[in-house]
Amino acid sequence: MLDRRPQTVLMAEMTWPEYAALVAERVVILPVGSTEQHGPHLPLGSDALAVAEVGLRVGRQIGAIVAPTIPYGYRSAPRSGGGELFTGTTSLTGETLIHVVRDILTALVRHGARRIVVLDGHYENNMFLHEGIHLVLDAGAPPDLRIMKILWVDPIQQKTLDRAWPDGFPGWALEHAAHLETSLMLAARPDLVRMDAVPSDGGDAFPVYDMYPQLEGFVPASGVLSDPSRASADAGNDLLDDSVAGVAAAITAEFGDAVLGPA
Ligand code: ZN
Ligand code: MN
Repeated sequence: MLDRRPQTVLMAEMTWPEYAALVAERVVILPVGSTEQHGPHLPLGSDALAVAEVGLRVGRQIGAIVAPTIPYGYRSAPRSGGGELFTGTTSLTGETLIHVVRDILTALVRHGARRIVVLDGHYENNMFLHEGIHLVLDAGAPPDLRIMKILWVDPIQQKTLDRAWPDGFPGWALEHAAHLETSLMLAARPDLVRMDAVPSDGGDAFPVYDMYPQLEGFVPASGVLSDPSRASADAGNDLLDDSVAGVAAAITAEFGDAVLGPA
């Protein structure tokens, strides 16, 4: 049979009739990022670029539709993103993010989407994405609607972490603008990484609490929360491959009937 699928998995590159012909039977992935400082060596869009890359690779692998990434996220927390004091960090309030997610999901459902994946790329978004999903269900969604929410780093396996951090994994929160994100960007967008600007002020000893108003000096001045100096494209590809495989496996487990193979 002639394959009439469009040559792209990106919703933004489809015409509306192309999209309309696929949306009810395909998985639809909605990546959610942030616009947040990532040190002097990574771009402000690192979270959005990373989650868009994972979404695109998963989409190609399983023949999903990938909706445009939400480029802003919830307010940066000092101990996982440096906090709100950095120039460039541009955040939504929780209320706004909840409603942005609710509104986009509501539209996707109206289009006919019944298997949706909210793919999170920014630690602080977590509960606001849960709430946006709940509001869609509370409003009376079709009974066959099913929504998965997944943080892109969560499927990464321990053996992959051990390879990436031979001296011990410091935990995802401290990974901000550090080994993982720098390696990942070296793999996905090396043109945007400035390894010559990697700072050396990354302190690994933070208080076990937060203070409001957020304080200058609570985190390293560079905004980098642990050491990125040994980042590599190889490590980035290893982490990225494991995430993509894990996200694709989760989607296949829950929505296997809509997984059609590579688009
Ligand atoms: Zn990040
Ligand atoms: Mn972030």
